[in-house]
Amino acid sequence: MEKTTKILLSEKEMPTKWYNIMADMPNKPMPPLNPKTRKPITPEDLAPIFPMELIKQEASTERYIDIPEEVLDLYKTYRPSPIIRAYELEKSLGTKSKIYYKHEGLSYAGSHKANTAIPQAYYNKMEGVKKITTETGAGQWGSALSYACQHFGIDLEVYMVRISYDQKPFRKMMMNIYNANVYPSPSNRTEAGRKILEQHPDSPGSLGIAISEAMEIAAKNPDTKYSLGSVLNHVLLHQTIIGEEAILQMEKAGELPDVVIGCFGGGSNFSGIAFPFLRLNLKEGKNIRLKTIEPASCPKLTRGKFMYDFGDTAGMTPLLPMYTLGHNFIPAEIHAGGLRYHGAGVLASQLLKDGLIEATAKYQTECFEAGIQFARTEGVIPAPESTYAIAGAIDEARQADKEGVSKTILFNLSGHGHLDLASYEKYLSGKLQDHELTNAEIETSLAEIS
Ligand SMILES: *Cc1c(COP(=O)(O)O)cnc(C)c1O
Repeated sequence: MEKTTKILLSEKEMPTKWYNIMADMPNKPMPPLNPKTRKPITPEDLAPIFPMELIKQEASTERYIDIPEEVLDLYKTYRPSPIIRAYELEKSLGTKSKIYYKHEGLSYAGSHKANTAIPQAYYNKMEGVKKITTETGAGQWGSALSYACQHFGIDLEVYMVRISYDQKPFRKMMMNIYNANVYPSPSNRTEAGRKILEQHPDSPGSLGIAISEAMEIAAKNPDTKYSLGSVLNHVLLHQTIIGEEAILQMEKAGELPDVVIGCFGGGSNFSGIAFPFLRLNLKEGKNIRLKTIEPASCPKLTRGKFMYDFGDTAGMTPLLPMYTLGHNFIPAEIHAGGLRYHGAGVLASQLLKDGLIEATAKYQTECFEAGIQFARTEGVIPAPESTYAIAGAIDEARQADKEGVSKTILFNLSGHGHLDLASYEKYLSGKLQDHELTNAEIETSLAEIS
């Protein structure tokens, strides 16, 4: 039989709607709360921060939402993305299972973040917004949004987590090329930043702090809105283009995956690939396992608590019902910067609580090892975040072999690692260590919020 490695869709076959899991969830998530009144948040509460169309999407229960023409046009510069059968990885594992990956590293930004950067910039543009602020961890989100804002003629100010700002100068350079202003966070530019710096002048920063800074600027300036790269319902919605394409591609290959795997920071790339497959479980009686892999040093899904918490450190966001380690939690300086976030998206949190998705945590050295095996076999150098998904896929293949069965495994390669080579250098020279997070550390952090 002739061997097919890449499963492609033509531009004409690209889905034109995002899928909203809210329509099909057996238990709808509890509402976000206004931190002052403790009442469910209203659109008016959010209007200073987000454009109205995104506020609508945040609460929508429509099953499908049309992707605007202008967004589709820009998607087509890198979508549909291929699914690739990882024959070489399979061979090196000696597995009987089939491993496929969806390659989201081929966008201009090198990651899946472009899928929501483009529509977010577009809706802001349509509502006359002149300037956007945002946070970025490893710089993936910042660079994705920088180009989208440049395209739609919007100014962008990026608060970049200090440790990544220092470790990843080339991501900052990318943002500058796309015409954005980038500041290390915590910064002196905001009250939230100044407060942290007073107590911890050497703070490595965190996504939670950077979100506080970016939101503060947007809240204070009427012509400025804020944009978030993960966690929120509308962000997860935009990412479902990944899974919608993947369903068509797996059909083309005559396959249905047994398990779909994604790494987990705030939940956007996992949800993007997994939610459309979850629809097949909920609506068509399929039984596809949907598996998240998070870092053992930032384990909100496996060791956090389901409760209302803030999405940021200063407590400016609505209170969200989610799995969290506490909004003051500062994760160890692991190299997958995009996974250093204390909470999990509301939709993914509810689905985990209901047992509809699975969660596993892994240490970074195991993941780097998997990433290097992937690079040496498939040729693609993965983003450090994506190595968690690869390690998860390898686990599944090994487990299947132990059980004497063959599984069809699909994972999301959320991005490439060409700008993360310093982390690989550390790993290869033996300088990367695993951080053992104690129960006491987690309890202390959670005690501060309950
Ligand atoms: C941001 C990022 C992640 C983590 O964020 P999610 O919202 O959980 O997807 C994972 N991989 C890459 C490449 C990223 O840029």
